[in-house]
Amino acid sequence: MEKTEVIVVGQGLAGTWLCWWLYKAGISFKVIDHPNPRSASLHAAGLINPVTGRRMVTTWMIEELMPFANQAYGDMGDFFGEIFIDEISVIDFFPSVQMVQAFRKRFEEDPAYLLPGKDREKFTRWFRYDLGWGSIHPCCLVYVEKILSNWRGWLKKNNLLVEEVFDLSKLRKAENEMEYLNFKTRYVIFCDGKSSSHNPYFEKLPFALNKGEGLLVEIDGLPANQVFKKGMSLVPYRENIFWLGSSYEWEFDDDQPSALFKKNAEAWLQHFLKLPYEVVEHFSALRPATLERRPFVGFHPQHPQIGILNGLGTKGCSLAPYFARQLVNKLKGEGNINPLADLSRFEKILMRRI
Ligand SMILES: Cc1cc2nc3c(=O)[nH]c(=O)nc-3n(C[C@H](O)[C@H](O)[C@H](O)COP(=O)(O)OP(=O)(O)OC[C@H]3O[C@@H](n4cnc5c(N)ncnc54)[C@H](O)[C@@H]3O)c2cc1C
Repeated sequence: MEKTEVIVVGQGLAGTWLCWWLYKAGISFKVIDHPNPRSASLHAAGLINPVTGRRMVTTWMIEELMPFANQAYGDMGDFFGEIFIDEISVIDFFPSVQMVQAFRKRFEEDPAYLLPGKDREKFTRWFRYDLGWGSIHPCCLVYVEKILSNWRGWLKKNNLLVEEVFDLSKLRKAENEMEYLNFKTRYVIFCDGKSSSHNPYFEKLPFALNKGEGLLVEIDGLPANQVFKKGMSLVPYRENIFWLGSSYEWEFDDDQPSALFKKNAEAWLQHFLKLPYEVVEHFSALRPATLERRPFVGFHPQHPQIGILNGLGTKGCSLAPYFARQLVNKLKGEGNINPLADLSRFEKILMRRI
């Protein structure tokens, strides 16, 4: 049997960041990931936006999360000789009079991250809009696809990845050690996105999965140094390819792309964009969101060898590096997890099962 300190289940944003900090801390690990083309991380736009929602509220903990993400993605990028994060602005074309007012009100009360658009005509070469625009700055754009594939390649090269479905029924638990396949391990940490919502250890947690659909669209001649938003967003993704999305659905029958979304998204694009375009992909995925919009980070109160990093919802790019680090610090006995994210807040619920 091969000994390893931690088995990490899943290699989306959560699993990738957890491994990164384990590696940095010199803690041995193996990853078990079954590639799923509908995993949330594979379809994220990669945006870290400090201002969100109809009322333009400042995102939870952004003052801490954004500099942390800049540093962490920057360091991981240096490790691979790649750029994993850039600063970017979101050009927010007001879709309604209410949104013009919300922007103005927020700017008067607190101008942080907002700049009113002075030159009203600046974008008329590319877009149709009649209520003006403002910009949100600074935002970050994280290159999720590049990060996941670089990290996966590194895991493979170092013989740290098992590409198969993790089967809980094969986990043998003893007092201080567990066995899975040919590994002896002290901890198993689930970073398996939506799958944890039906894992017997964690199914009692208030998950609230949310469906997102989007398109990848080829557009020649559109500047790729900004995000363009008018209700939906066009985000630079690859050369000449923009990510268009996304929907945010609480009620859905399945996780498949729907004809209705595609029809609406194309109608939106034809109305907004003056340039020709071609749809190259239509995707959908379930976000591992939570009822209280806070992540699940920590160890099971009754089974302290079983951990979780999940519930990243719509904010995986900023939450994953930060909370993965807190989880590894906790494992080392060198720090605590923010109580608003710490799994221990569900102690009573989790103690009822298993
Ligand atoms: C359309 C869309 C757009 C988004 N845009 C943004 C954005 O711009 N900015 C942002 O911050 N966030 C965004 N998000 C949210 C972000 O994608 C998620 O918060 C994040 O990706 C969740 O990462 P995760 O690692 O927890 O889960 P996942 O990405 O789902 O990863 C889980 C991994 O575990 C594997 N797995 C699952 N079960 C098993 C098993 N039993 N055995 C082995 N492997 C298993 C899966 O195959 C997968 O590889 C978006 C989400 C969607 C759907």
